[in-house]
Amino acid sequence: MLIEKSKKHLWLPFTQMKDYDKDPLMIESGNGIKLKDINGKEYYDGFSSVWLNVHGHRKKELDEAIQKQLGKIAHSTLLGMTNVPATELAETLVDISPEQLTRVFYSDSGAEAMEIALKMAFQYWKNKEQPEKEKFIAMQNGYHGDTIGAVSVGSIELYHNVYGPLMFESFKAKVPYVYRSESGDADKCRDECLAELEQLLIKHHSEIAALSIESMVQGASGMITMPEGFLAGVRQLCTQYDVLMIVDEVATGFGRTGKMFACEHENVQPDLMAAGKGLTGGYLPIAITLATEDIFQAFYDDYQTLKTFFHGHSYTGNQLGCAVAIENLRLFQLENIVEQVAAKSKLLHEQLHELTSLSHVGDIRQLGFMCGIELVQSKETKLAYPPEQRVGYQVSLKMRELGMLTRPLGDVVAFLPPLCSTTDELGAMVSIMKEAIDEVTSREC
Ligand code: PLP
Repeated sequence: MLIEKSKKHLWLPFTQMKDYDKDPLMIESGNGIKLKDINGKEYYDGFSSVWLNVHGHRKKELDEAIQKQLGKIAHSTLLGMTNVPATELAETLVDISPEQLTRVFYSDSGAEAMEIALKMAFQYWKNKEQPEKEKFIAMQNGYHGDTIGAVSVGSIELYHNVYGPLMFESFKAKVPYVYRSESGDADKCRDECLAELEQLLIKHHSEIAALSIESMVQGASGMITMPEGFLAGVRQLCTQYDVLMIVDEVATGFGRTGKMFACEHENVQPDLMAAGKGLTGGYLPIAITLATEDIFQAFYDDYQTLKTFFHGHSYTGNQLGCAVAIENLRLFQLENIVEQVAAKSKLLHEQLHELTSLSHVGDIRQLGFMCGIELVQSKETKLAYPPEQRVGYQVSLKMRELGMLTRPLGDVVAFLPPLCSTTDELGAMVSIMKEAIDEVTSREC
């Protein structure tokens, strides 16, 4: 009955509804790292409900933080005023973020956080009276969300091509994809990409406002991990050619890669940083754009100068969301979540290694609890499956049958378990993945 209603009235994100009609799924509850559907079947949340969940579902402390905040107020605006939890959270965020970042601008989703970063970068140069700096450098295979600005600095053909005429143009720079590179050599791949980027900057830096880049891992394009030194190299070039660096930590931020923010792996200090997802532990839609004091000061002036950042949303700085984020970050500290992820990810690396024995696992990429398993038709030639075979999707359906949920990225199986997952739970999830990949790829080849 409920399923019929969903088929009749819902339009789901990133979903071909014809697929949904064939294989519908409705979640009713969750506990720890498991979700339960309306028929009582349980599933491991192998993708943290799209890369969000930290402490598991129905974490007592987080539930209580929301209830406590509800006893005071659910929401009031941040336009021209502030509220208690938004202010307290901002202080904590500045404390735990790369030290150059001192200002917090709230929004409701990762895409908005990126829109805000882009608009801030654009207006920064106007306010600094360098109006010719209006363009952006985007990374090939980049993904920053689905609003038009975020799509304009994104570069995943399947998602973005249709919107071509709506987008503003951006320069595209290559990001190393070692597995698919000719040499397969990480250092060579990194150096070539940095050299190309430098050429682009030499030619165009005077017209470029900012470069946007995912931090250490390109998530949506297939969990493509960057070779050591690449992000730091990009930072160095941005500084040298006076271009702002926007680092997108929406997927990688809040412990996901074994550091609080992934840019810490390379000691990178961004000029602007977008984050969201794990900020509320996977509870409520709060996202943030952090800026340096230099950027903030470029907007700070008498009203008549019109340097104000004219941007905001109805629910910006929502009290319930900020209250749960504060409790989430308190638990991060109390339960040493970041250190735990770093330690457990070493074990996870060994568990994932078992998948290499499967004849259609081409590459396994991992940074912390952010993993991608690339399936190929031929391991020797790295030949991809024909897209119409939808092998990644078939594997995800098989995993669902076996009691685990995740969403594939083409033929890359994405594995991003909740950060609280124990090593036993990680092992159980890897076993399900192994069985599903084995069964589907034996059938498909
Ligand atoms: N940026 C990155 C790197 C992401 O992975 C995502 C979502 O997966 C976004 C931005 C968009 O975030 P949201 O879905 O909250 O708009």
